Amino acid sequence: MRWLQTLVLTTCSLQALQVRVDYTYDSRGFFDNPDARAAVEAAAARWSRVISTSLLPVNAQDDNDDARFSLLHPGTGERIQVSTAAGPGTDALVTDVEQGEADIYIGGLQVPEDEWILYVGARPLEDTGRGGPMAGGLNFGEVFEDPNSLLNRGFNSGVDSLSVLGGTVTFDENENWHFDLTSLPQPGEIDFYTIALHEIGHGFGIAARGVDEWTDLVVNNRFMGPQTIATYQQETGNSLPGLLVAGGGDFHWRDDTYDSRIFPFGDPILLGTVGRGNFQDLIMEPGLSITQGIPRFELTNVDLASLRDIGWSTITSDAAAGEKITIELTRSSDGGLVLSFPSEPGATYRLQTSESIGNWVNVSPLLQSEGETTDWADGEAGFDDPVGSAQFLRQKFFRVIKQ
Ligand SMILES: [Zn+2]
Repeated sequence: MRWLQTLVLTTCSLQALQVRVDYTYDSRGFFDNPDARAAVEAAAARWSRVISTSLLPVNAQDDNDDARFSLLHPGTGERIQVSTAAGPGTDALVTDVEQGEADIYIGGLQVPEDEWILYVGARPLEDTGRGGPMAGGLNFGEVFEDPNSLLNRGFNSGVDSLSVLGGTVTFDENENWHFDLTSLPQPGEIDFYTIALHEIGHGFGIAARGVDEWTDLVVNNRFMGPQTIATYQQETGNSLPGLLVAGGGDFHWRDDTYDSRIFPFGDPILLGTVGRGNFQDLIMEPGLSITQGIPRFELTNVDLASLRDIGWSTITSDAAAGEKITIELTRSSDGGLVLSFPSEPGATYRLQTSESIGNWVNVSPLLQSEGETTDWADGEAGFDDPVGSAQFLRQKFFRVIKQ
């Protein structure tokens, strides 16, 4: 038996930001479902592909600062304080200045450069989901002000409200969710990818309450970010003093008021959307008009302009695609898959695998060229492939990127 698949070789490095999905607070087990995991990771990967901001690594210890962050626990709905001290006995906020104990002590926190944590979970909600950035909670003033701290990571310059350690998103566990990205939601189903994109957007501070970077730009219920206004005018020809928000303390775009085109770079997932070049509702509207008969929504140019207005940067083009070559998949004598591709002697290749479109993860270590052709056996000893062996999966995708 033989399969043929195409893959793209590129020589450009990947985008700066990596959203890492973390299931620590999925206390009700919603993401035990692998389809739910694949969908939220695909939405996280979409954001990873468009944000080009660099973030400093985090190396918080049990020290004199004992930095804390707070987050809305997705499984309980309670706001919890997480301390980087090992316990209350060594938590300087408790022992030195008599602040309350944290809810959770983790004894240090290391986050690699450019990684942004997304805590996910679910519980019964009245709406489909919610999301927001982590916050500083209690902390010594020097932690807030330190541009290298876990809250700032070199990002904040002046406003110092948005924590860029990561965000939290919560989904309603009782919706009739459609998780699969390769098929369309049926009537009565809600597209999980669409809602996940929206909620993660709040995690970056878009339309988020309590994020001064956003709320400072709202004047008389209009969002005045210059890039947003310019992008909207460029797309529609309409000149506005600012884009209306919902109002009454709700910072979403005003419902059903503005349209924009899908942000074309970073591989949008187009199946079920309006398609490239067409207008859709903004992803950060409070209620996407699912009644319109559009089953899936993507990030738009206007939404991403608003992200830039609050300090993030986004890609402005796609990396030039390299030479497209054919990868050959064959069945080995023991029943596994073997992947072969033409290679250059001396080159190294990054192999990536995924269970769903747009959700690539690295296989490590890098593949060393074996000459004119390089082979790799699915599940080969000495390699870590987080997706797991194809024999346990409904589908598996492979791609190779020349380094
Ligand atoms: Zn929202």
